[in-house]
Amino acid sequence: MDENSTAEEMTEFVRQLLREKFTSAEVGITGANFIIEDIGGVAITENEGNGIMSSSFPKTHIVIAGIEKIIPKLTDLDIFWPVLSSHGTGQAITVYNTIFTGPKKGNEESGPEEMHVILLDNGRTNVLKHEIQSDILACIRCGACLNACPIYKNIGGYTYEATYGGPIGSVISPFYQGFEKSAHLSYACTICGKCTEVCPEKIDLHLLLLHNRNLDVETYSKNWIFSVSMNIYKFVTLRVKFFDIGFAGLKNFFISVFAKNVFGQKRSLPPFKKSFRDQYLNKKNKL
Ligand code: SF4
Repeated sequence: MDENSTAEEMTEFVRQLLREKFTSAEVGITGANFIIEDIGGVAITENEGNGIMSSSFPKTHIVIAGIEKIIPKLTDLDIFWPVLSSHGTGQAITVYNTIFTGPKKGNEESGPEEMHVILLDNGRTNVLKHEIQSDILACIRCGACLNACPIYKNIGGYTYEATYGGPIGSVISPFYQGFEKSAHLSYACTICGKCTEVCPEKIDLHLLLLHNRNLDVETYSKNWIFSVSMNIYKFVTLRVKFFDIGFAGLKNFFISVFAKNVFGQKRSLPPFKKSFRDQYLNKKNKL
C-alpha cells in the first residue's frame, strides 16, 4: 500500500486483508472480560468487533481466561461493564458488548459449532496464598493505572517483558512468571500512588509493590551482602553528618569503586558536591 495513504485508506486495506482471514479461519480464540457463573456465559466488551468476528465465523470458538474473571451473576454486569469502559477508554459503554452461552443451536445461522472455555491458573492461586497481594485478583484490566503511571508513560509496555505492563503488571508478573525473573518490576516504581488514585477496584497498587519488594528481599533474593549493605546505607543516611566527612573527590572515588553499579549498568549515582555548609563557609570567608 502507498506510504502516503490516508487513515481511511489504511483502515480499508486492513479491513479487506483481515476480513478474509476471519471468514476462512477454522478456529477463533478470544479472551473474556468476565465469565458469568449463574448463566454459564462469557462476556466480551470491545470497540473493534474482532472479538465477535473471531467467535462467530470460525467453526470452533476457544475462550482462554484467567480464573479471576468469574463473576457471580448476570446482573453484576450492570456495574462491571460501565466501570470497565469508563476507566478503560472514557466511554459510558463500549461499542460491542456480547454474551456467549455456547455454540449455535438448532436452526441458528451464525455462531460456532463448538465452543470451549479454558480457565487459566498460571500462578493465580499462588497469589491467593498471600493475603495482602491477593487483592490484585480483583483487577478488571481496565488499564487506568497504566495511563496514570509516570514510569509506564515513559518506558512503554514492551519493556516489562510480561503479558501485563504498568502497575498491575509490576504487581502480578512476579507471581505469574516467578520472582527470579520479574521481581525487578516491583522496584521500578516511584511509589507516587497515581495508580492507586485511579483504580476503580480500589486496589492499593503502590502498597502492593512495596509488599512485593519485602517478599522478594525476605524470601526470594535473600542474601547477606545485600542485607549488610542496606543496613550500612540506612545507618549512614539517617545521620547527615556522615555526608560531611571527607572531601567530595574522596567520596566520589569510593562511589566509583564500591557503588558503581548500584542502580544498574546504565544509571550512575550523582557525584558528591561540596556540602551546603562548605559552600556557605567558602562564600563567607571570601566576604
Ligand atoms: S489495577 Fe485497577 S486500574 Fe489497574 S487495570 Fe486493574 S482495575 Fe484497572
